[in-house]
Amino acid sequence: MSCFENRPGAAAQSDRTVSDYNPFDEMTPRAPAKTPAERRNGRHVKANDIPPQGVYLPNNNYLAPHMRSPEYVQLSTAAAITLGIMGGRMYGCSCTRCLNLLLTYPEGCRANCAYCGLARHREADRDYADRNFIRVDWPAVPMADIVEIVAQDQGASPFHRMCISMITHPRSEQDTFTVLKKWTDRIDPDAIPVSILSNPTTMTRDDVQKTRDLGADIFTVALDAATPAVFDRTRGKGVQSPHKWSKYWEILLDARDIFGAGHFGAHIIVGMGETEYDVLKLVQELVDLGGHSHMFCFFPEQGSLMDHLPATPRDQWRRVQLARYLIDYRGVRVDQMRFDASGRVTDYGIGDAELSEVIDEGVAFRTSGCPGKFRDDVSACDRPYGDSPPSDIASYPFQPKKKDIRKIRRQLDIPARVE
Ligand code: SF4
Repeated sequence: MSCFENRPGAAAQSDRTVSDYNPFDEMTPRAPAKTPAERRNGRHVKANDIPPQGVYLPNNNYLAPHMRSPEYVQLSTAAAITLGIMGGRMYGCSCTRCLNLLLTYPEGCRANCAYCGLARHREADRDYADRNFIRVDWPAVPMADIVEIVAQDQGASPFHRMCISMITHPRSEQDTFTVLKKWTDRIDPDAIPVSILSNPTTMTRDDVQKTRDLGADIFTVALDAATPAVFDRTRGKGVQSPHKWSKYWEILLDARDIFGAGHFGAHIIVGMGETEYDVLKLVQELVDLGGHSHMFCFFPEQGSLMDHLPATPRDQWRRVQLARYLIDYRGVRVDQMRFDASGRVTDYGIGDAELSEVIDEGVAFRTSGCPGKFRDDVSACDRPYGDSPPSDIASYPFQPKKKDIRKIRRQLDIPARVE
């Protein structure tokens, strides 16, 4: 039997070194520099009057002041390849199952989150439509074109889900409603369900309700930081950004009331200075509320205020991935697990044989997110290589193969069982 212990510091000491996780003191973002007046708020883009011309591929440096939501949205490189808008191939996967859309404006997101490629401070040197976000480019495409392509053959669509990502902008709510309505006017939300990745800072409970009324199926809150201290340092006062932990939780609880159990959740980035115990306690809290956690491994996004910091060590990430899967899908509770003095998982709270079976199945190490049509614990949103390069995969956008499982076991330091 395992000993039940839910506080870091009281369990058996681990022999790991401190270098196998990202501690709080080492994960301090750079301070944002001052943006020259002529670059603020997309001013130099809006000084032009060049009409948009269909699909816009990032790095064209083509100033397009009218390229804005709701007429335009940006979409992930993976979605653009799957939709046939861009050429290219992805390692290990033929397509993505989630059509990830992002609202777009020449003045961009008005928040300044330290880990994010879309953050406001980047207006000093890169136009919004040209910024990298979760490691990839996001081409801008007329929303009408996207709807037209998908509506032509909804039944045969590779997409299991569509997701609208809001940003911090005064028009974000209104334009989310319009984009959502453009979609549901032509595409059956039962055939391709819709998720909202919200930005609570400017939202009200009525806004949450309206997304539900317009046909959204799942509402998620991009909490991203696992603790109030990490949140404030990376998304709040620490980087001159407007977000507040309390407001994010207010909207998360509104989503629980309005969307109901199994239809709301939170994004969490692992490795920004929280402990493994912190993040798993949060995962448990979400499960107890009836929600899910969607996890990302921290990766130092180029051009962000954290691009000088280390990616989350793979052993830290794998421990959290595995423990999170057990809490979310196998009914294990965080208080059955044990943690060392630094908050690292030392015992997953289940027997070795069962743990081994979960590891070998591999689903725990796939990208987590809103479900698709295969099974509840396999995410439609596979975000290929959004949190790592293909050479050192963090979240597997495909079913891990035997050689991947061997690597995962080495990272976890859990050898295969010999019967
Ligand atoms: S609010 Fe979202 S898009 Fe804007 S900077 Fe923060 S994480 Fe990036």
